[in-house]
Amino acid sequence: MEKKRIVVKVGTSTLTYDTGKLNIRVIEELAAVLSDIQNSGSQVVLVSSGAIGVGAQKLGFKTHPRDTAGRQAAAGVGQTELMFMYDKFFAQYSNTVAQLLLTKGDVLDEVRKTNLKNTFDKIFEYGAVPIVNENDSVSTEEIEFGDNDTLSAITAKLVSADLLIILTDIDGLYDDNPRTNPNANLIETVEEITPEIEAIAGGSGSVRGTGGMITKISAAKIAVNSGIDVAVINGSDVKNIYNVLSGDFRGTYFKAKK
Ligand code: GLU
Repeated sequence: MEKKRIVVKVGTSTLTYDTGKLNIRVIEELAAVLSDIQNSGSQVVLVSSGAIGVGAQKLGFKTHPRDTAGRQAAAGVGQTELMFMYDKFFAQYSNTVAQLLLTKGDVLDEVRKTNLKNTFDKIFEYGAVPIVNENDSVSTEEIEFGDNDTLSAITAKLVSADLLIILTDIDGLYDDNPRTNPNANLIETVEEITPEIEAIAGGSGSVRGTGGMITKISAAKIAVNSGIDVAVINGSDVKNIYNVLSGDFRGTYFKAKK
């Protein structure tokens, strides 16, 4: 399948180990695969979580701070560390990254939204890779997207992407929770996000990120309703992204409404 503009979302559970420390191999592989896809003529956007988790770990905390100011401060630390690593590894593949930190207000306001679109277009024109996160250091509950799955779908919409790939710590959407039911089956294709599909997603989740499968389904809904295909795949092997592009992959494919 010919996909020109691709948004890839990676979450905290893929980017970090159980220790809370960065999974350097994943970051390096992301830099290699996304640079390679960019070299082939496609445009790539990376939506990356990890700011709060990586920051908390770097500050020596065992868990994320509970208070808003604490999380905002941790995000400031973690975002810097993340971008330092992305910059370093993308540079290894002669690629340049641009940091874009968004809040909900940036896409709700028409003027700010247009400015943002123009910025994305320029970054694409310059051949750099936008790396997007929520602006966690300034966003509070009232103005936040809340989770990066939603942010990735809104970003995909903003840049009129052809495809959104959500990397997670499970192979895709199952008809039951595979962590408790060994007979659960992977749902390979979702033609339409029905209430049944949403109900199935209710039970699953992961420990270190914000979103479980529920936020992935609501993100997929935003994207498919905007004509964007969505693939939810296991991020444990970043090279799975190539399989999505070749149309033969293990994961769940949500077909765009045309
Ligand atoms: N923006 C948050 C962070 O970078 C992550 C939100 C999420 O995991 O969905 O820490």
